[in-house]
Amino acid sequence: MSHENPVFDCKQCGECCVGFGGTYVSSEDILAIAAFTGMPEDTLRSGSCQESANGTVLAVDNENRCVFQKQKICSIHPVKPRMCREWPFIPAVLRQPGNWRLMGDACPGIIKDAPPETVYEQTLAELQKTRPGFTPEKATAPADAPDKKPLHSGQKG
Ligand code: SF4
Ligand code: SF4
Repeated sequence: MSHENPVFDCKQCGECCVGFGGTYVSSEDILAIAAFTGMPEDTLRSGSCQESANGTVLAVDNENRCVFQKQKICSIHPVKPRMCREWPFIPAVLRQPGNWRLMGDACPGIIKDAPPETVYEQTLAELQKTRPGFTPEKATAPADAPDKKPLHSGQKG
C-alpha cells in the first residue's frame, strides 16, 4: 500500500499473517501460487492449505504464522491471495465503519482516527481496483468467503 494513503501506512510488522484460519484462498489463488512457486497444485493443497469451517485457508507453521511468511516477509507477494492484497480495505469496513478502529487494534498501519468518510472512500476505491465492477451494495454479499476473516488479533478481516 502507498505510504501516501491518508488512512493506512503499513509498518511491515507482519502481524497480519499470524493466526490459523486467517487467509482464505480461492481456487484461482491456489493456481496462481502453484504457478509462482512451481509447486504442484496437489502438493500445495495438501501441504500448505488446510480446511476451516468456512473454506480452504493457508496453513500456519508451528509459530502460528502463515507458511508463506519468511522472516516477516511474504514469500509469494506477487501472487498472494486476494484478501491479502486487499487488506485492510475490505467489505466489512463498508458494512460497518466501526470495524476500522477494531482492526486498528491489531494492525498498527491502520490510522484509527482517520475520518470515517475518508476511510469509506479509500476502502471503496481500493476494492474497485481488486474487484472490477465492485459497488457498495456488493459489500453486503453474505457469501463472500474471503471477507469472513475474524476481526481479532493479528488477522486480516
Ligand atoms: S499488521 Fe498491518 S502494519 Fe503490520 S504488516 Fe500487516 S498490514 Fe502492515
Ligand atoms: S500469503 Fe503472504 S500476505 Fe498472505 S498471510 Fe501469507 S505471508 Fe501474509
